[in-house]
Amino acid sequence: MRSKPNMLVTGTPGTGKTTTSAALAEATNLRHINIGDLVRDKKLHDGWDDQLECYIVNEDLVCDELEEIMEGGGNIVDHHGCDFFPERWFDRVVVLQTENSILYDRLTKRGYSGAKLTNNIECEIFQVLLEEAKDSYKEEIVVAMKSDSVDDMNRNVATITEWVRTWSSTS
Ligand code: ADP
Ligand code: MN
Repeated sequence: MRSKPNMLVTGTPGTGKTTTSAALAEATNLRHINIGDLVRDKKLHDGWDDQLECYIVNEDLVCDELEEIMEGGGNIVDHHGCDFFPERWFDRVVVLQTENSILYDRLTKRGYSGAKLTNNIECEIFQVLLEEAKDSYKEEIVVAMKSDSVDDMNRNVATITEWVRTWSSTS
């Protein structure tokens, strides 16, 4: 049994996973692991996907890389997918959600356009990440949180920080 919880922060790109995870890490002293950065820095991929404009994540390499770290507990994993991590890794799965027009503005600001933009907006409309999370983890550990504004983010960080504070491995 780990002495500190592991948490997954997931959601469509642009919903605020990295910003929220960084604030959470600061508030809780847990370790923020951004899967995208890890994949790039440790080359845990099978090359670049020209069409989707992202690395082709090698899921086995990512899981091998993180196994020991996750066993130790105290991690915030930040990723826009959640179905390939072992279920036993996480004590809580947070799915961030953002209203379409707000997400649209965030993604265009990030330089997304065309199919990449449309795909991500559709991903959010159809709640793909929430469904994926519910399919992959026990429903009682999955929580959806609205991430439209800075107020939302501050409230989410406060709520999760309180949960981490009261978490115990026996619960
Ligand atoms: P993700 O990691 O999910 O792709 P980011 O954390 O990189 O998302 O956030 C994308 C952009 O949206 C950033 O410019 C960030 O400052 C902004 N942002 C994220 N969450 C919020 C929020 N709840 N309210 C306002 N702006 C936000
Ligand atoms: Mn991110």
